[in-house]
Amino acid sequence: MFWAAFLRALGVLRISRRWVRRQGAVVLTFHRVLTDEELQLTASLPGMIVRRETFDDFLQYAAEKCDLIQVADEPVWARNQKLKVAITFDDGWSDNATSAYPLAQKHRAPMAIFVVPRRTGTVLPFWPERAASALDRHMTTADRTQSQSYIEQTIESLKGLTAQERKHRIDEITSSGSGVGSNAPVDQTMTWDQIAQLHAGGVVFGSHTSTHEILTGIPPAQAQDEISLSRELIEGRLNAPCSIFSYPNGDSSRNVRELVARAGYRFAFLNQDPGVWTPLSDQYLIPRVNVCEYHLVDDKGRFSPLMFDYAVVWNAAKGLLAEKRAGLWKRLSNKWRGWSVKFHLQSAEKSHIEKSSS
Ligand SMILES: [Zn+2]
Repeated sequence: MFWAAFLRALGVLRISRRWVRRQGAVVLTFHRVLTDEELQLTASLPGMIVRRETFDDFLQYAAEKCDLIQVADEPVWARNQKLKVAITFDDGWSDNATSAYPLAQKHRAPMAIFVVPRRTGTVLPFWPERAASALDRHMTTADRTQSQSYIEQTIESLKGLTAQERKHRIDEITSSGSGVGSNAPVDQTMTWDQIAQLHAGGVVFGSHTSTHEILTGIPPAQAQDEISLSRELIEGRLNAPCSIFSYPNGDSSRNVRELVARAGYRFAFLNQDPGVWTPLSDQYLIPRVNVCEYHLVDDKGRFSPLMFDYAVVWNAAKGLLAEKRAGLWKRLSNKWRGWSVKFHLQSAEKSHIEKSSS
């Protein structure tokens, strides 16, 4: 809050918001919208959660102060008086249907959800919650904050392993001690019925792979299956085209990007480094900004437009600036290489002429 207030006082936040508004659109990644009761029960990490009340207040603010757009359609790039913002959800948790969707309807906010078709209607569908739940059961210490950061670090380090190594390690974690148990039907993904209901209500559905494997940690043939099969499954269930994709954990590579492009998607979205979707963005590497509770609230826990400008818009602006700087550096070094090749050729030619005339 201190830094946010400081940057606002300097005028930096206002300038960065204006710049982002002129450059393109900010695509937000949400995962879960939970009631305070559900918050006590969930095994999901705080970086994935927004409180229902905060989401309601955020949507009210965004519906008034921003131009809410749908990511399945290319934005109208013409300059706008309002900041273009898109709302997306990853994973397809059941709270998207019970909390996020009714609020999005209330505020007429377009929404896209990236689902994992082989993990619909499942309790604890993904390994981070299963590992977190098992690790949490091991903890007997009273210090929740310390155990939370231990769990977060363990999950981060698991993400760096290959799928096979990770499975082995998670089996170890979950088989020791009391193992995984769901104390929380709250950690469940939407059923196909819920997905169909939301689809009929105007929500656009995209693919987040068939089983949520991190695509850079599996063999190319398996990655291709994850990318293509998920699309077919969603299209078959909803009888509608599935044209958008989001990378699990935001992880992509040149090969993975190629597979997504070849599978026939129109747009694919990242979720690692914040950035802005501009007309120059690679259509298969569109940046998003991950949003959770502490990106949106003040020190009293209430939705704060200042925090949104600081933690979301300013971060997106910094990402775009870094991208532009990298682009400029690449162009300059290419030019320099061109000049030096030309110079060498000219001097070689000159010495050749001198030699032949002497
Ligand atoms: Zn995900």
